Amino acid sequence: MAANPHAVIVGGGIGGLATALALRRRSWRVTVLERRTSISEIGAGITLWPNALRALDVLGLGPHVRSRGKALVSGGMRDQRGKWLTGDVMRELAAQPDGGILVLERRHLLAALQDALAGDEQVGIRVGAAVGGVTADAVVDGALRGDVVIGADGLNSAVRRALWPRAEVRTTGMVAARLIGKLEDSRAVGGGETWGRGDYAGLSPLPEGRLYAYYVTRRVPEASRALPWWQQRFAPWHYPLPQLLAAATPDELLCHELFELVPLDTLVCGHVALVGDAAHAMTPNLGQGACLALEDAVELAAALDSGGAVEDRLRGYDRSRLPRVHRLAKRSHTAGLAPAVSGRTLTAIRNTLIRLTPLGVSVRAFRGVADWNPPAGAAGDKPAFG
Ligand SMILES: Cc1cc2nc3c(=O)[nH]c(=O)nc-3n(C[C@H](O)[C@H](O)[C@H](O)COP(=O)(O)OP(=O)(O)OC[C@H]3O[C@@H](n4cnc5c(N)ncnc54)[C@H](O)[C@@H]3O)c2cc1C
Repeated sequence: MAANPHAVIVGGGIGGLATALALRRRSWRVTVLERRTSISEIGAGITLWPNALRALDVLGLGPHVRSRGKALVSGGMRDQRGKWLTGDVMRELAAQPDGGILVLERRHLLAALQDALAGDEQVGIRVGAAVGGVTADAVVDGALRGDVVIGADGLNSAVRRALWPRAEVRTTGMVAARLIGKLEDSRAVGGGETWGRGDYAGLSPLPEGRLYAYYVTRRVPEASRALPWWQQRFAPWHYPLPQLLAAATPDELLCHELFELVPLDTLVCGHVALVGDAAHAMTPNLGQGACLALEDAVELAAALDSGGAVEDRLRGYDRSRLPRVHRLAKRSHTAGLAPAVSGRTLTAIRNTLIRLTPLGVSVRAFRGVADWNPPAGAAGDKPAFG
């Protein structure tokens, strides 16, 4: 391999840019190919768990990202009338040695990654570059060759389609609507989730009095996905879930059907590796998709910086990532089943079980997800944001 090896990264989302940054910190040259005409993220919030923050620390962005977000310090689970089903889980999590969950706007996370790459002549970011095909020996669209190609092109990855033709994406049968809003009324709002009968919603305070909310329901016909449908559906729910919908404009509401990728047997093929949703798109119920993409970036760069042939280095990445991403994809899938329960009796039983569950169980579950640590020596050598 050349002294300054070259990675071609397909996709300029969180996974792609984080991988570019992780590789730059190990002196790789990177080219990012993004099909959109600009690097941009949808206008929603994102929760980052301590594992993601550890990955961002390795990338030199931890302090900056923490300063743009808000720590979830209070909240838990409620029923749709607002009756608490749990104690203050978020407070317990925030008191953990590594802290709890940070919430921020996605665009701030993407901007932090983009800014850290800006002005570096070893980084090429090409927008409006939709990749159609990749070969296992790292040639993109028959023209651009890298020492490796990284597929960071999301749920419907073209890289995965080319080299993992049997991979299967399946619907969860649910649709999510997301928005960021602000209410005139400044009542204190905690974070957490609210579970109804077949529908559920979540709420997280953001800096400057803004709120991130999501609403999930069974798949509804495309034509019904407009704002009035959601306003009506969640109208009887507790404050401020309906109020945020009532104050939203149609273009502020982002609706997506929720899909997951059937777990892959391997994340690598020859000189090609997958990261992020291309590798392990999962339901959002654990809030781990982007967190894992950040972990992938750090681990892939560390593996590629080790000795030996590129294929062997990538196999090292595969070995270290597969068990964790399989475990969390499964857990995320399971975590999506309980809130989607819709029968009256089953819902009542579920809510009683939640009430009876000690807080310590939630804390242990949280730690079991957030228990990732960067590989030794993963700090790279280049400072970002001073
Ligand atoms: C409702 C919902 C809530 C979520 N909440 C959270 C959360 O709170 N915390 C969390 O950690 N995760 C969350 N996730 C998951 C998270 O959004 C994803 O896991 C994460 O965005 C994946 O990042 P990525 O870079 O792998 O893929 P993407 O964000 O999909 O980026 C892929 C990029 O590749 C580009 N691209 C696609 N095809 C091509 C091509 N052929 N050529 C070139 N470029 C291409 C796309 O334009 C895009 O920019 C949530 C997901 C959903 C649906």
